[in-house]
Amino acid sequence: MTDAILVLNAGSSSLKFAVYRDEADPQSPVLRGKIRGIGTAAIFTARDADGDPVPARAAMTPRPSASHGDLIPALLDWLESHLAGFTVTAAGHRVVHGGASHTGPARVSDAVLRDLDALIPLAPLHQPHNLAAVRCISASAPDLAQVVCFDTSFHRTQGRLAQMFALPRALSDLGIVRYGFHGLSYDYIAGVLPTFLGARAEGRVVVAHLGNGASLCAMKARQSVATTMGFTALDGLVMGQRCGALDPGVLLYLLEQKGMTPDRISQLLYHESGLLGVSGISNDMATLEKSAAPEAREAIDLFCYRAAGEIARLAAATGGLDAIVFTAGIGENSALVRDLICDQLGWMGVALNPDANARNATRIASDTSAVDVLVLPTDEERVIARATHRLIHGAPAHPG
Ligand code: ADP
Repeated sequence: MTDAILVLNAGSSSLKFAVYRDEADPQSPVLRGKIRGIGTAAIFTARDADGDPVPARAAMTPRPSASHGDLIPALLDWLESHLAGFTVTAAGHRVVHGGASHTGPARVSDAVLRDLDALIPLAPLHQPHNLAAVRCISASAPDLAQVVCFDTSFHRTQGRLAQMFALPRALSDLGIVRYGFHGLSYDYIAGVLPTFLGARAEGRVVVAHLGNGASLCAMKARQSVATTMGFTALDGLVMGQRCGALDPGVLLYLLEQKGMTPDRISQLLYHESGLLGVSGISNDMATLEKSAAPEAREAIDLFCYRAAGEIARLAAATGGLDAIVFTAGIGENSALVRDLICDQLGWMGVALNPDANARNATRIASDTSAVDVLVLPTDEERVIARATHRLIHGAPAHPG
């Protein structure tokens, strides 16, 4: 039997998983899958090492109303019977918030879990589900070694100014600072940049992680120097359902003049804003692109206007721009979004090759563009598998 690492990324209604060989730099998963619609109508899909769908008869069939607590033990059982030749010996988890003290992955312990529980209010959409998955594994497979990897860690290379709010010093000292998120995705992209950019990878690069959650990371020498998300994953760009950056005066007005409660405001900012709120139609970019409604187009335009503006702001933090990288669901698939964003950056010398952009090609800049523009698929799970291997075996850090 070959040892394998199970990677889990538990969201509010989904559970993504991937199984990798337990080795220093696993190339591709032995199995990868997702359970969607948890709590309502759970649907399981999985692909094998060749990327072929696992046939329906071999797939796990969760009860439609199954919760995370039911699904994780069922998934472990299913893996045991379907992972021919492999035994899962460790689990690596995506955890959104590691706060100030977790600057890298950590072995799970009671003390670590207590620390991470305290951060739940800072990432209420993700952190409770991430930690529930860890506890579920502890309960159903206590012998499995577990590692937690944080979306915040990659940004801890940032300078002090990039992490500060202009609030009284005592509040910064309390940890009210910009943490940044999507770090596992940025870590992966930083690792593959040299393959696509050569020596330019060490230059000034803005990576646009545009998915349902969206943010930008400015890198110099493949390290984070600035990002758009802040204390929570609400800040920065327009997202599927989240508002992104907002004048804090709006919150005071809603509280004081409109009588909204903190719970109501939280619901508004996390679940009813962004593409969904502006369009009134959907949080899903592909759906909006197909819609003829002017509100759908306005939501897309606002998404791109804000992203282009933020790329320009981050270029000030890096002192110019050598490359832009688009990644995640929208970044990898929406030619329209990339076109609208890059068009607004024409003054910086950004120009696209329309054919390459329409094909979602890897290199989409025109020959005359002063800035390279790439489309690179991200792979957060692989970053977690590597880190889990490293912590479990005490191996040196992977050079990528
Ligand atoms: P998550 O943050 O949930 O992991 P993803 O990275 O999967 O999200 O991105 C989901 C987003 O990507 C959705 O808005 C979806 O509509 C968008 N997307 C996926 N494929 C396309 C496409 N072909 N065209 C436009 N948008 C797309």
